[in-house]
Amino acid sequence: MPDPAISVENVNLTLGSGEARAHILKNISLDIAKGETVALLGPSGSGKSTLLMTMAGLEAPDSGSVRIDGRRLEAFSEDQLARFRGSHIGIVFQAFHLIQTLTALENVAIPLELAGAGDTFSRATEALIQVGLAGRLRHYPAQMSGGEQQRVALARALVANPSILVADEPTGNLDQAVGAEIIELIFALNRAKGATLVLVTHDENLARRCQRIVRLRNGAIESDKAAIMGRVHVPV
Ligand code: ADP
Ligand code: MG
Repeated sequence: MPDPAISVENVNLTLGSGEARAHILKNISLDIAKGETVALLGPSGSGKSTLLMTMAGLEAPDSGSVRIDGRRLEAFSEDQLARFRGSHIGIVFQAFHLIQTLTALENVAIPLELAGAGDTFSRATEALIQVGLAGRLRHYPAQMSGGEQQRVALARALVANPSILVADEPTGNLDQAVGAEIIELIFALNRAKGATLVLVTHDENLARRCQRIVRLRNGAIESDKAAIMGRVHVPV
C-alpha cells in the first residue's frame, strides 16, 4: 500500500499551563490517502483547529506521531520542518493571515522565496491569475475585500504546488455568497492539482462535499465515514 498523505497515530496533545492546562487531543489516529478530500466536522471547541495544526506540523503532539508522505514530522529539526511544510502543505486560515505591509503579489511570493525557487514573481502572478485576481497584484490587504484577501491566501497556499491543502473554516469571516465562491475555488483548484484536501468546518452541507467526514467531539474522533452526497442527480 502506498504511504498515506497524512498519517496520525495515537496523538495526544495538552495545551495551556497551570489551571488552564487541558487535554485537547485524545488519542487521535487517522490515515488520509493521497488525493482524498476530508471534512473535519464538530462543534466549536471540539479540537478541529488543533488537530489540523498538528497534522500540518504547526503544533507538536505530546505523544504519538504524525507522518506526511511517509516522513515523521517529529524527526525534523525546526528548520527542516519549516522547509518541509512549505513544500508539502498549503494552509488557509479563517482570518486570512496575510502580511499587511506586503502587496498581494509579495504575499503570494513568500513560500517560493522560502523554498529558494526561481521565477518567484511570475509564478506568484500566475497563482493570482488562477484565483481571479489579475487586477489586484499591487494591492495591499487593507485595500481588498475579505473575499479578495482569502483568494490571495489561497494563491499563497497553492503557489508552491503542495500535495496537501488544509483549510480551517476558510469562509468563517466571509458573507455567504463570497464564502460559496471561495469554496468553489478551493474544490476546483484542489481537483486541478490532484491535492489532498482537509477542510475544517462546522457546516454539515459543506462537509458532505468531501469524500469523507471525520467528526470530532471533545478532542476525540466520534465517527469517521464516507460522506453520502446529499445531492440527487436527476437524468434529463
Ligand atoms: P475548534 O477548532 O474545534 O473550535 P480548537 O482546536 O480551537 O477547537 O480548541 C479545542 C479546545 O482547546 C478548546 O476547548 C480550546 O479552548 C482549547 N484551546 C485551544 N488553544 C488553547 C491554548 N493555547 N491553551 C489552552 N487551551 C486551548
Ligand atoms: Mg477552530
